[in-house]
Amino acid sequence: MTPLGQLLIERIREGGPISVADYMAECLLNPVHGYYTTRDPFGVAGDFTTAPEISQMFGELVGLALAQAWIDQETPAPFVLAELGPGRGTLMADMLRATQGVPGFHAVAKVVLVEASPALRRVQQARLARFETNVVWVDTVEDLPDTPLFLIANEFLDALPIRQFQLGAEGWRERLVGLAEGKLAFGLSDTLAQVPDTPSFTGAPEGAVVEHCAAARFTVSAVAARIARHGGLGLLIDYGGWRSLGDTLQALRRHTFDDPLAHPGEADLTAHVEFEALTGFIPHFYTTQGEFLHRLGIAARAERLARNLTGAALESHLAAFRRLTHPEEMGSLFRVLALTRAAAPPPPGFDP
Ligand code: SAH
Repeated sequence: MTPLGQLLIERIREGGPISVADYMAECLLNPVHGYYTTRDPFGVAGDFTTAPEISQMFGELVGLALAQAWIDQETPAPFVLAELGPGRGTLMADMLRATQGVPGFHAVAKVVLVEASPALRRVQQARLARFETNVVWVDTVEDLPDTPLFLIANEFLDALPIRQFQLGAEGWRERLVGLAEGKLAFGLSDTLAQVPDTPSFTGAPEGAVVEHCAAARFTVSAVAARIARHGGLGLLIDYGGWRSLGDTLQALRRHTFDDPLAHPGEADLTAHVEFEALTGFIPHFYTTQGEFLHRLGIAARAERLARNLTGAALESHLAAFRRLTHPEEMGSLFRVLALTRAAAPPPPGFDP
């Protein structure tokens, strides 16, 4: 068992089973042993790869989409250009590079990065040092300034802790992490649980497991509140669906699936994002990553970049294009939610 696993076993032995959300939060962000707090998990040598690490085109197009929205909203100044969970800083670096030529954009932008991991903050700082824009780091979305807000979050919501509930004959019980024969094991709460009043819960059949991510709702509300007051655009891109019914908790370690209880702190833990549960009455647009990138002109950009490439470099560029956009790859598995203002026109990348 990992060092964090030992600590969790002791904690559960003394205090009883913990929620899946508590387990996930400890695994990802424990200050000493957490997955994100202690390492840079991205890339070929790491545990998984994300869209901005696959190709520069992703960050370029996202950056230009946000800049176009800023122009469409009559260039509010000053404004905040924010990213939630910036990982290695690759996405923000590509966004800043691609928008350097947008008149006035950088001059009035304040870049704010929401990042919980000290290790990744250092990687981001090194990555963004060459840009002249003012960059600051904050701990949570609540710390985002109350100004016009143009925001991107890629694979952030899926890392937020979820609770899981299961419907039995008598009602809902919470799925918990406890002990069986001295090892971590899933179980159900002794008492019945109160569950949220969302469509996934109200329509569930007996036996169903349904997830709830309070932190994702909180995040979306905080972003939407700022946009409602001052304008802006929030782009949230993630693995998931409009409604995701079932147990979607998954662990990824060295590019292969792992048992979520097997290596606490040493595997990435994520859950599918249920977009319907996030939106409520918030004005929004929603599409697939493939549609979004095509509408923003990824085919033309890919072709332009391909002109300077040959051999293996060209092949890997074409593979990256396919991976980001093809319906059998990230193109339809990943979804884009745009948070806007009431009666705002569709943002760049969405259906008119
Ligand atoms: N957006 C990046 C990285 C995604 S991984 C990319 O696309 O490559 C998730 C990121 O969110 C990491 O940077 C992680 O440290 C950060 N993170 C996870 N949970 C967080 C939380 N609760 N608050 C702030 N940052 C968090």
